[in-house]
Amino acid sequence: MDKIGVLTSGGDAPGMNAAVRAVTRKAIYEGLEIIGIKRGYTGVIESDFMVMDRGSVADIIHRGGTMLHSARCEEFRTEAGRKKAIEQLKYGGIEGLIVIGGDGSFKGAQLLSEESDIKVVGVPATIDNDIACTDYSIGYDTAMNTILDAINKIRDTATSHERTFVVETMGRHSGILTLMSGLAGGAESILVPEIDFSLEEVCEKLNHGYERGKLHSIILVAEGIEQDFTSSTDNNESQAFAIAEEISNRTGFETRVTVLGHLQRGGIPTAQDRILGSRLGAAAVDLLLEGETNKMVGVVHEEVKSFPIEESLTRSKDLNKEIYKLADILSL
Ligand code: ADP
Repeated sequence: MDKIGVLTSGGDAPGMNAAVRAVTRKAIYEGLEIIGIKRGYTGVIESDFMVMDRGSVADIIHRGGTMLHSARCEEFRTEAGRKKAIEQLKYGGIEGLIVIGGDGSFKGAQLLSEESDIKVVGVPATIDNDIACTDYSIGYDTAMNTILDAINKIRDTATSHERTFVVETMGRHSGILTLMSGLAGGAESILVPEIDFSLEEVCEKLNHGYERGKLHSIILVAEGIEQDFTSSTDNNESQAFAIAEEISNRTGFETRVTVLGHLQRGGIPTAQDRILGSRLGAAAVDLLLEGETNKMVGVVHEEVKSFPIEESLTRSKDLNKEIYKLADILSL
């Protein structure tokens, strides 16, 4: 193998740059030519390629986002689109491809490796940390710290005004990011898709807190919760608004809503995410050099490991119920 490519795809995550840097410099160290592909799979189809050298990735390890830009590419979901992508990679002499992204990007990587002789390796990067076969994905730690920073600030105003804040966090179908941020932030209640909850219990908890002198509370709500409260409101905004209204109706407490939104995806990557990006990026190059394909790299108990992409797509990453229980006990 002489020439490989690297791209970032799907939702961006802080630490992707550290991974791009690691892929680039490790590849050069191993004597490979390395091509940066812009805007994910769109850039493959459009042959948006740039030759990388050591200097191309200078001064990016501390930056959020991704220097290669990211995109969602509908065309790549079709066989015809992937055929075009394969042609462009072949034309560019790219024999191996490293895809840094989430599970959607991994699905694309899997199909690419099955439909061509191009070797493909995935590097897990998503703030949701919902990819199986790795304890952590790139961006998760930074996003948790961003949420904590927001909780700290919201707590200041919640305390001053004696209010209950309902804070909506990202995570898509997973509640892992919400749970762990809630535990670290001392949230009074944490609502996640994996665990049924009753608003009655949430309100009881608020009332108990109030009786022992607590004048403010923070309730974290994962964006993916499936219980529907929106019938009580006449708009189709996030569930957090309906939950806040319901709590206010049931308890008489003043509630406010903060939807953290995309600020969770940005920011200077933490040490953990830079270390993870560096280790996994370099490991992905090693895998390609070993002739592997259709695999992903992950970190399990601090050790870098590799697994078939298929396994990471089919195994579910479960929320730790013990930690959920602990967060509940500690918030009483
Ligand atoms: P993430 O990688 O963060 O989960 P997406 O789910 O949006 O983000 O996936 C990123 C891109 O990966 C998509 O825009 C598409 O190009 C590709 N992709 C996702 N799912 C598939 C699929 N089932 N088949 C082929 N390509 C896919």
